Amino acid sequence: MAFEGLADRLQQTLQKVRGKGKVTEADVKVMMREVRLALLEADVNFKVVKQFIAKVKERAIGQEVLESLTPGQQVVKVVNEELTALMGGEQSKIAVANKPPTVIMMVGLQGAGKTTSTGKLANHLRKKHNRMPLLVAADVYRPAAINQLQTLGKQLGMPVFDLGTDTSPVEIAKRGIEKAKEEHHDYVIIDTAGRLHIDEGLMDELAQIKEITNPDEILLVVDAMTGQDAVNVAQSFHDQLGLSGVVLTKLDGDTRGGAALSIKSVTNTPVKFIGMGEKLDALEPFHPERMASRILG
Ligand code: GDP
Repeated sequence: MAFEGLADRLQQTLQKVRGKGKVTEADVKVMMREVRLALLEADVNFKVVKQFIAKVKERAIGQEVLESLTPGQQVVKVVNEELTALMGGEQSKIAVANKPPTVIMMVGLQGAGKTTSTGKLANHLRKKHNRMPLLVAADVYRPAAINQLQTLGKQLGMPVFDLGTDTSPVEIAKRGIEKAKEEHHDYVIIDTAGRLHIDEGLMDELAQIKEITNPDEILLVVDAMTGQDAVNVAQSFHDQLGLSGVVLTKLDGDTRGGAALSIKSVTNTPVKFIGMGEKLDALEPFHPERMASRILG
C-alpha cells in the first residue's frame, strides 16, 4: 500500500504525544525530529520537509497549543492541518469552460499512464458529471497509442477522434476540437505525445497544441512510483508549458509518498486526480485532507 512506511512512522511518533496532558517544547522538538526523518525517508523533497517542520514547530510550540487542555491532540491537529496544506489544502476541481467544449490537454512522459488516464478521466466525467467527452488521439509517435485509445473508447462506448499517424498532432488537435463543437461534446480530452525524456521537440509541439487549442486544463500525468523524478518532471513541464494540474498515477502501488507530498509545494501545481489501478474506474479526485487523515490514521 502507498505511504505505508510514512504512515506507520508518523502514527507511532504522534501516538507518543496524542494522549499527553502536558506537552513541553522539548517534547515537540523530539517529535519533530522524528517526523523530519520519516518525511525524508518517504522521499519528500528536503526543502519541503524543512519548511513543513518550521511551520509545524512554530504553531505547535505556541502557547495556545501547549497550554490548551488537550495539548497532545492539538499538536496532532497541527500536523494534520499542515500536511493537508502541503498537498494543496482544498480539493482542486477540474475546470469547466464558460462555453463548451472544455478542452483538456493530457501531457506526460511515456509509461506514466497518460493514455490510460485519458480514458479514466473521460469515464469519470461521464459518471460523476454526466458529461460526454470526445477523446482525441494525438500521440502519433508511440506505436499503438492510437489503437490503445481506440480500444479504451470502445470499452467506454465513447467516440475517439483520430487521423492516423501521418497527420501532425497539432492538426489532429485542431480538427478534434472542431469535431467536438460540431457534435456538441462538452469536453475534449487530447492525448498528446509522450517521449522517454523531456526534449525541445516534445515541448515545442506541446506549446503549439496549447497555442492552437487554448486549453482550459493542461494536466500532467506522472508516475508516483518515480518519487522526486516525478517532481522534477512536473517542474520542467510547468516551466515550459504552464500546467493547471497533475494526475498522479500508480498510487495503488507501494510508493513511499514523496511525489504526492512535494509536487504542490515545489511546482505550485495541484494534484487533481490520483490513479489507483489499471482499470478504467481507478481514478479518484484528490482530496488533500482525506489523504492527510489517511496517512495520520
Ligand atoms: P502512457 O505511455 O503514459 O500513455 O502510459 P499508459 O497509459 O500506456 O500506461 C502505462 C502502464 O501503466 C500501463 O500498463 C497502465 O495499465 C499502467 N497504469 C496507468 N495508470 C496506472 C495506475 O494508476 N495504477 C497502476 N497500477 N497502473 C497504471
